[in-house]
Amino acid sequence: MNAAMLRIDGAYGEGGGQILRTALALSVLLGTPFRIERIRHARSKPGLMHQHLMAVQAAQRICRGEVQGGALGSQQLVFTPGDVLPGEYRFDIGTAGSTTLVLQTILPPLLSAPGPTLLVLEGGTHNPHAPPADFLEHAFLPLINRMGPAVSMRLVRPGFYPAGGGVLEIEIQPARRPQPLYLEERGEFLDLHARALLSRLPDHIAARELGIIGRAFDLHAAQLETVQVVDAKGPGNAVMVAVRSRHVTEVFTGIGRRGVPAETVAGGVVDAVRRYLASGAPVGEHLADQLLLPLAMAGAGAFVSLPPTRHTTTNIAVIGRFLDMAIDCEALADGNWRIAVA
Ligand code: AMP
Repeated sequence: MNAAMLRIDGAYGEGGGQILRTALALSVLLGTPFRIERIRHARSKPGLMHQHLMAVQAAQRICRGEVQGGALGSQQLVFTPGDVLPGEYRFDIGTAGSTTLVLQTILPPLLSAPGPTLLVLEGGTHNPHAPPADFLEHAFLPLINRMGPAVSMRLVRPGFYPAGGGVLEIEIQPARRPQPLYLEERGEFLDLHARALLSRLPDHIAARELGIIGRAFDLHAAQLETVQVVDAKGPGNAVMVAVRSRHVTEVFTGIGRRGVPAETVAGGVVDAVRRYLASGAPVGEHLADQLLLPLAMAGAGAFVSLPPTRHTTTNIAVIGRFLDMAIDCEALADGNWRIAVA
């Protein structure tokens, strides 16, 4: 492989870890080496944290690539990929860093690898500013599976900040090339379901969260679930609302934090669900930035979403550095946006 080295500016646009993860994913997928500078420049602690370093090492392992600059705190690195090697891998972040963001990095190349892969990821599974395991299981992966691959995920044990110790198992049956996905309508509304996870914290936290959500959407008891986590390494709380429609399920999350009242955590979720329901769009903000790469791999597809976030516009720009394809964002009359790969 003697592809030219791409230069990626980690400070571009949103300036966070997603630029690095998307670059790693596409580099491994396409065999394109890259140099990235100013990694996570817009974050309060720039450079590689444990979870980003694990993403780099995981990307390296699944293709026996070469890395220069792969150390904690590093703000630049050079990544030279090799051929993708499906198989069995275990990656332990060693902190509560997000397992799902490590998955976001290595899943794309493994989706079209020459064989199946079994992944075990250890760390955080319900982190702020990251997709919770439930979002992957119920919102993201069903759409990936609609594109041809068969990916299943099992939350073996939740992991919360700061103790970590969560475990995710992921089985990936690849497809040679993902098929295009068109998700322009939500379809008939089916149901809402709210789930509160609680580890080593008083029951009233989950009860207050589910009370707020239940009253906001007029839910009955069967739609409100409390999961008492017995085997997590430390305390934690997350509350998720799944909105199931004919063509898509979206998941909205609040992560409990010391000093933040349960009412505030649940209130944020209620606001996000209301905004989504009122929009009529099938794809919420987070799903939008995460669907771009699979659509780009398929070479075609489109979805209608809430207005694009900076994560989405930044991800489009990074994808455009690796792949010569247009991703168009068009504002629709109803305030939603149509994002199309062609
Ligand atoms: P970054 O901030 O650059 O590390 O990227 C964070 C990633 O996590 C983006 O892909 C976000 O869409 C995703 N993300 C953050 N919060 C959530 C959430 N509550 N549900 C689903 N995905 C999320």
